[in-house]
Amino acid sequence: MKIAMVGSGYVGLVSGACLADFGHEVCCIDKDQSKIDRLHEGVMPIFEPGLAELVEANVKAGRLNFTSSLAEGIDGADAIFIAVGTPSRRGDGHADLSYVYAVAEEIGQHLANDAVVVTKSTVPVGTGDEVERILAASGTGHRFSVVSNPEFLREGAAIGDFKRPDRIVIGAEDDFGREVMREVYRPLYLNESPILFVNRRTSELIKYAANAFLATKITFINEMADLCEKVGANVQDVSRGIGMDNRIGAKFLNAGPGYGGSCFPKDTLALLKTAEDFDSPTRIIEAVVKANDGRKRAMGRKVIEALGGFDNARGKKVALLGLTFKPDTDDMRDSPSIAVAQTLTDGGVEVVAYDPEGMDSARPLMPEVTMAGDPYSAIDGADAVVIVTEWDAFRALDLDRVKQLLNAPVLVDLRNIYRPEDVRARGFDYFSIGRP
Ligand code: NAD
Repeated sequence: MKIAMVGSGYVGLVSGACLADFGHEVCCIDKDQSKIDRLHEGVMPIFEPGLAELVEANVKAGRLNFTSSLAEGIDGADAIFIAVGTPSRRGDGHADLSYVYAVAEEIGQHLANDAVVVTKSTVPVGTGDEVERILAASGTGHRFSVVSNPEFLREGAAIGDFKRPDRIVIGAEDDFGREVMREVYRPLYLNESPILFVNRRTSELIKYAANAFLATKITFINEMADLCEKVGANVQDVSRGIGMDNRIGAKFLNAGPGYGGSCFPKDTLALLKTAEDFDSPTRIIEAVVKANDGRKRAMGRKVIEALGGFDNARGKKVALLGLTFKPDTDDMRDSPSIAVAQTLTDGGVEVVAYDPEGMDSARPLMPEVTMAGDPYSAIDGADAVVIVTEWDAFRALDLDRVKQLLNAPVLVDLRNIYRPEDVRARGFDYFSIGRP
């Protein structure tokens, strides 16, 4: 089967490489020529574990190629995926669909055979209808069907998630769409991955409902963590205690600095906007968005408290370990570290940071922060060290060396990766989330 993937970012490139690995012939398209040039040279434009090897193997096998020409890339494709960005629109928080619609226009101009056009980007309810209208208006003489197939992969574990998904959701309005999608995912079908066929609008909403629910779970446990701090309870034990209930489930109950990343913040906002447009308030999500926004700067203030309050903190130096919104990615979009760093520099605190993969993307987002070459040079001479992202490299720091390098033995662990008693036994002033 021939597949075109328009947009070769975190989702498009991973999906394209995995579909090629299933045995399909895949062309990944991107309008960013430098991305395509790098891919031709075997250099990955993003950091995702296992991706370079997967791409290389499938290019060698002749199943995966790259182009910046949409006309060339979609030629002969049975399925054309749209996997371009849908960021928050400035001003109102709605999803910016201009990239999706621009691709639909271009497909309409160049479609040279019957094909199914699949929206993999996260798009609000009704976007598929508009894509269909654009294609119909283009006057293409070829048969087409517009399908919604949202993506649920997680950065950092994207390949495993794509190849062994909890479920595949397909929103199709006709048999042509359903049949082609069945063929696309046949290898997974044989694996017994559940495939859920629904109508297109339902499929579009499922993606937002899933992300909003997960964001709610995180925000819920974060608020429980705040309460734990006030009442002397331990949020990790609360998580365990509630998570063992199958109706609740143990995942997404780790208290931390608030959710970030390229999906939850923008998708919760876009869902709020859809709910408003359809006059169907979603008050829970409103509360989640508000609580999470406030939390990120509150984490900066927590660090300032650990330094002895605003007056004492001014002129001090803090080492931030981890900048990306989660480990095993270089993605800095809406990372909590941005607000933490901003709160600290606003308070006159000097910030030095280290992240294993995210520093290049972080630099323009936090120009006042100095980047260090490794965790220990960031810590050297600092008045406190703050763990913002739980990269494995920070789970086994040489604490004696850390203490020696610090001006004062202050450790703020925003991911609860250390055990309070261990760290305190080594003489640290230790602050974590929701634990006595
Ligand atoms: P991204 O920014 O990494 O990639 C988008 C790519 O599309 C870019 O390389 C850009 O150059 C390209 N592009 C834009 N317009 C184009 C055009 N007209 N023709 C060709 N290429 C074009 O974005 P992403 O993180 O891969 O997200 C893509 C979509 O998938 C979004 O809707 C997002 O919400 C959704 N999604 C993302 C994730 C994730 O973890 N990143 C997970 C699930 C769903």
